Amino acid sequence: MDEKFYIVATPIGNLKDITYRAVEVLKSVDFIACEDTRVTKVLAEKYGITAKLIDCHKFNEKEQSEKIINLIENGNKIALVSDAGTPLISDPGSVLLQELYKRGINVTSIPGACAVSTFLSMVPRDTEEYVFIGFIPRTFNLQKEILAKHKNTNCVFYESPNRLIQTLENIKEILGEDTKIAVGRELTKVFEEVKTDTVSQITEYYKSHPLKGEIVAMVFSREAENCRDEDILEKICILKEAGYSPKDAAKIISALYKENKNKVYKLAIKSKE
Ligand code: SAM
Repeated sequence: MDEKFYIVATPIGNLKDITYRAVEVLKSVDFIACEDTRVTKVLAEKYGITAKLIDCHKFNEKEQSEKIINLIENGNKIALVSDAGTPLISDPGSVLLQELYKRGINVTSIPGACAVSTFLSMVPRDTEEYVFIGFIPRTFNLQKEILAKHKNTNCVFYESPNRLIQTLENIKEILGEDTKIAVGRELTKVFEEVKTDTVSQITEYYKSHPLKGEIVAMVFSREAENCRDEDILEKICILKEAGYSPKDAAKIISALYKENKNKVYKLAIKSKE
């Protein structure tokens, strides 16, 4: 291991989700730069990691970068971790990394858990293409701007449980109540759940279920949605030509293709016009 600076992914909930290599590296370094020493201490205790902890969060990253670079230049091995998942993915570290590159210090990454990739691996999608926007902006206008910009791409974002309902209401207003979305909550933890449905159905669900824990969500591409609508319409026409009512056609298609019944029914009515 010749590299001098290690970016190390840590678990996003389940403490067992850490690689052998990550533990090996964290055991071998002299210092670990971390967002919150209390959080990293829990991981260090579990895996017998004894490196000294240096706090490096978004409010002190600039000053701490100097200190960390001095330590490296004095021969110390240093790793960077965040509170959860992969550092620099909606986490601090960018200022420090720029300084390291400027000084020509070798940087390497020990990959592992990340909420975005964990979530995407559990959501069936028609296309690989997606955009990750980090935490979605808080205001309606900024949400409108960013969702409009990415409306033809699957748009993945982080959101706090306290703001999720309002954000879902905003998505309904901005893109329409039939917009398909997926929400992942508490991934890798005891109460892990991933739900995929229209934004209306998901809003109703979370209004009547306790909404706690960490959230990652995706608004499906409207383009993929439009293609699927055309596909459904084609099937509706076949069934209607065979004598099925719009209601029965909707029942059959939603059962066979796991589509939302109301949405298919609306398309079936529309196809009559
Ligand atoms: N660096 C992390 C990563 O690799 O995913 C993300 C850090 S960001 C500050 C924290 C946000 O990630 C949380 O507020 C939540 O939106 C999302 N997140 C982290 N862990 C999660 C989990 N277990 N389930 C769902 N979302 C999670």
